[in-house]
Amino acid sequence: MPFGEFYAILSSINLLKANKVANMKHKKQERTLVIIKPDGVQRTLIGEIIKRYERLGLKMVGVKMILPTASMVEKHYTVDPTWKRKVGEKAIESYLKKGIKPPTNDPLKIGDDVLGRLKKYLTSGPVVAMVWEGAHVVPVVRKITGSTEPLSSDVGSIRGDFVLDSYEMSDTDGRAIRNLIHASGSNDEAEKEIKIWFKDGELIQYRHISEQILYDVNLDGLLE
Ligand code: GDP
Ligand code: MG
Repeated sequence: MPFGEFYAILSSINLLKANKVANMKHKKQERTLVIIKPDGVQRTLIGEIIKRYERLGLKMVGVKMILPTASMVEKHYTVDPTWKRKVGEKAIESYLKKGIKPPTNDPLKIGDDVLGRLKKYLTSGPVVAMVWEGAHVVPVVRKITGSTEPLSSDVGSIRGDFVLDSYEMSDTDGRAIRNLIHASGSNDEAEKEIKIWFKDGELIQYRHISEQILYDVNLDGLLE
């Protein structure tokens, strides 16, 4: 192959690589959706919850108070089309583990019931929807929010510190578990969920002063 042709191919590969790098988002640009559910608003925990994410170094890029409709809630929980089945299977498994007979062996029926209860819960009053941005934001927010069931959430997590509820009690009473917050479970889920709650123009791109100390590679310019 003549050198000129070889060089042209090599350059185009490099150009592709450069474009790929240019299109790739830096970790610090990852985003997640957080919703303070009606119990969080009623318990006057909006400020406390925001503080927990803010002090980590995460950046809020969108926020609004909304009265959700049942169809928004349905859209939100079914962005993953397998969610109903998964929740149903998880619930059946936990009934069996506790030696309790599940109300039905059909995971989709249980998933439907859980969704119905979530609609009732989330449409019962205003919620605060937010988009947070930062490195590893999805797992970091999940970690400090705590696990889904407050009874087993770690001490120090928001759910562990501020709410008491269990599947046992909420299932007996036929209602959704009150766990204060929704936080996206993966980057893919976050992207889809954000589109349900926010229009493009409602998210703001801006720079935080603290980003330099969090992410700057050389940390130059600190000394006078
Ligand atoms: P999250 O991402 O931590 O909110 O948890 P999931 O996405 O798995 O579930 C969403 C919601 O469904 C939870 O907040 C609960 O209200 C409900 N849910 C999830 N798993 C179960 C379960 O095993 N039993 C019952 N009763 N409800 C569940
Ligand atoms: Mg989830």
